[in-house]
Amino acid sequence: MEGAAVGRRAPARRWSALRLERVNEVVIIGGGFAGLRAARALAGRAVEVTLVDRSNHHLFQPLLYQVATAALSPADIAYPIRAALRSQDNARVLLGEVTAVDLEQRRLTLLDGAQLRYDFLVVAVGMKNDYFGREERWATHALGLKTLDEALEIRRRVLLAFEAAEREPDADKRRRLLSFIVIGGGPTGVEVAGALSELAANILAEDFRRLRAAKPHVLLVERGERLLSGGFDPRLSARARTQLEELGVEVRTSTEVLDIDERGVRVSSGLLEAANVFWTAGVKGRSLAQRLGVPLDRGGRVIVRPDCSLEGHPEVFVIGDIAHLVPAGSERPLPGLAPVAIQQGGFVARQIVRRLAGEPPEAFRYVDKGIMATVGRSRAVAQTGRLRLSGLIAWLAWLVVHIAYLIGFRNRSSVLFNWTWSYLTFKRGARLITGERSWARLAEYGVASPPLEAPTESSGAAPPGSLG
Ligand SMILES: Cc1cc2nc3c(=O)[nH]c(=O)nc-3n(C[C@H](O)[C@H](O)[C@H](O)COP(=O)(O)OP(=O)(O)OC[C@H]3O[C@@H](n4cnc5c(N)ncnc54)[C@H](O)[C@@H]3O)c2cc1C
Repeated sequence: MEGAAVGRRAPARRWSALRLERVNEVVIIGGGFAGLRAARALAGRAVEVTLVDRSNHHLFQPLLYQVATAALSPADIAYPIRAALRSQDNARVLLGEVTAVDLEQRRLTLLDGAQLRYDFLVVAVGMKNDYFGREERWATHALGLKTLDEALEIRRRVLLAFEAAEREPDADKRRRLLSFIVIGGGPTGVEVAGALSELAANILAEDFRRLRAAKPHVLLVERGERLLSGGFDPRLSARARTQLEELGVEVRTSTEVLDIDERGVRVSSGLLEAANVFWTAGVKGRSLAQRLGVPLDRGGRVIVRPDCSLEGHPEVFVIGDIAHLVPAGSERPLPGLAPVAIQQGGFVARQIVRRLAGEPPEAFRYVDKGIMATVGRSRAVAQTGRLRLSGLIAWLAWLVVHIAYLIGFRNRSSVLFNWTWSYLTFKRGARLITGERSWARLAEYGVASPPLEAPTESSGAAPPGSLG
């Protein structure tokens, strides 16, 4: 790996030719919202920036559910990190997974054994799905939605379920194929459930003539008493529920998932049958956080000081979703949101510059611009300050905010046009089932041979009620 091995330093990069001062090395782990912003904010500064990410792209996670439900293509919401930092002279990008950090030696190790030294370290690795200790059993049957690969796998499973239903002569089996369960009633669960319902209604009417009479069923299961419990006004939770129900989504709150298997989801009232189950119920810190050997909260987030640095290691900053920071005067840590990550990225870049200038650290202050969740086209909820919005106006606000973010993210008007067009016109050009011999996976849905006779009885799908 270029210039990565300890002891093989590249002097030309590390010494300022004019002033003969050693240039400080800033290593950033993670090219998500937090890490990429930190790297960009160090442009033109007298430091060398190395951004390491296990994937080669920056991902716009807020629109992942649109890839999962075939509204957008992967390239609409992902962008090569290398391209994002192409014009930044003091930055380089390394593709690699960081597996260990030696805080004393100021050195980190990558999966392939390569090592990197740093003067300042910014850890911005985000979170991963949390199946509450049941990963091995549940993750197979209930896909999470954190990465592009997961979104594409969800898309594949959803579209294959429709293909299988088209060929399935048995009404009960068709009903199961057209039943979708989303676990977790936070913003992502609400968005996925709403988008699935719209996709199902749209795709069945347009593309699957033999299934036109079918009634797909989308069920959203939430353990808590209401949807969107994390920070949303209870009135907006109720509005989101109503809007989902208008779209045909069944919402079950106060419902705890006891088990998930190939048949569906077991809750206290019985088995909810469904061929497709999706998991949006929890996230936890990545294992790299544990390996730092510093205090973590119950969710595996790293507890940081007010300036986002580690206790005892002022040269190490932890930012974004993986950081646990309780602002002064508050009792709750900052939420895992893109604006928090972006603001912290810019903030730690400033702290590094201040440190080099001998100035004291500042405390991070989050500028809260509000929160929003979309339920479907023309349906959303949003709150900012004391303002509460729902329905079309909230959805328009959601659209403007996401388009504005995307412009900053891709900076390409053609992408903006394509995205807006496909989104507003319902042209789901991304309804592609990819993967070699993907049709063979119909067997996973119990469609072994192609039964091509027309469905004989009503194809309607009843709710996936208690069947066992
Ligand atoms: C489906 C979904 C919808 C969301 N919707 C919204 C929304 O509407 N509004 C909102 O504000 N927020 C939303 N969020 C949350 C928002 O996306 C996160 O708050 C934000 O992405 C956090 O940024 P981050 O930089 O901390 O982490 P991430 O964006 O997760 O980036 C982490 C990066 O670190 C890399 N990485 C991880 N481990 C390693 C390693 N060991 N070595 C090298 N690289 C590594 C990853 O590849 C990744 O690129 C959503 C999240 C999801 C999953």
